[in-house]
Amino acid sequence: MDLENLEKILENEPDFRLKQANEAVFKKYISDWSDATFFTKELREKLNKECPLEILAETLFSKNQKTNNTHILTTVKNGVSGADSVKAKITLKDGLEIETVLMRHEDGRNTVCVSSQVGCPLGCLFCATGKMGFKRNLSVNEILEQAIFFNRYLKKIALSEVEGSSFGVTNVTFMGMGEPFLNYENVLKAIRILNDKNYFNIGVRSISVSTAGIVEGIEKFLKEGLQLNLAISLHAPNNKLRTELMPISKKYSLEKVLSAVDNYILATKRKVMFEYVLIKDVNDSKECAEELAKLMHNPSTPLRTRKLYFVNLILYNATGTFKPSTPQRVEVFKKILKKSGVNFVQRYRFGDDIKAACGQFATSK
Ligand code: SF4
Repeated sequence: MDLENLEKILENEPDFRLKQANEAVFKKYISDWSDATFFTKELREKLNKECPLEILAETLFSKNQKTNNTHILTTVKNGVSGADSVKAKITLKDGLEIETVLMRHEDGRNTVCVSSQVGCPLGCLFCATGKMGFKRNLSVNEILEQAIFFNRYLKKIALSEVEGSSFGVTNVTFMGMGEPFLNYENVLKAIRILNDKNYFNIGVRSISVSTAGIVEGIEKFLKEGLQLNLAISLHAPNNKLRTELMPISKKYSLEKVLSAVDNYILATKRKVMFEYVLIKDVNDSKECAEELAKLMHNPSTPLRTRKLYFVNLILYNATGTFKPSTPQRVEVFKKILKKSGVNFVQRYRFGDDIKAACGQFATSK
């Protein structure tokens, strides 16, 4: 898909033509300009040639393991399924590939986890994307293309009446490939379009951005006046371990990250999530749980911001080097957090059978 030239092609047409074109792409989810019958045949052909809407993608389905023991694991081109999570590998104009995932929740929400970069320069040890290295930032259109792909997909499901289907992307999380704050301007523009009622109409409170702790990004973000959800990839309760797992911590210590988070909370009054993947024998000990509890109750941070700290415990998805914590260790870890009064949830793991879960996004190109 390439919408870069859309405005230019329509610049000599009456103003309402651009509105019609955007509506067709973002509201009716057309994938071929031939379906835009309100345009002349010549214009449709020109648009198909210069602004193609086709998205080159392969999809992989995963079936909800919690409610159904049957695993459906198939690769098809642009097919549909009633699966609870769907991963799409999208080929970009220059041949590079990105991954994006749709998670379909029982309450009807359809969350798309989008990538913001091809690969990632931060090289966190536990992350498959980090192992790919960094290739380039995604354009605004390439970020939006991921949500468009799944809107089209959900439309197909609704039309084919797959049982329990609900229509349209309702939530977007920037937790796919890449560090969103290292592609700040494009991510911000994409967020504004996702939120725009003339485009995706997704509430800002249904949009989340996850950062490894790029302090300048957090500080800049809080000035944008957006009430969206911020998540911090924490993954360790102290600087030493965090630096071993996430080299970026050398530059941004926990103290600096927490201070930026406090400013974010003071400005937005929004809860901030601290993502913590539980890796066997690395960050899942009793001592780590106790340290994490102390960090969440850190007396040097104002009480009114601490109250809005929230820990998301995530079961690690093996990417080669490390192993996931055992259920026993996870239980002990949770007990310590609970006893210490830390706000936390254990996030349900979507799609680990299709490598669509946290830290597992990676492509070969
Ligand atoms: S965890 Fe996030 S920041 Fe770290 S390497 Fe992976 S994508 Fe990049």
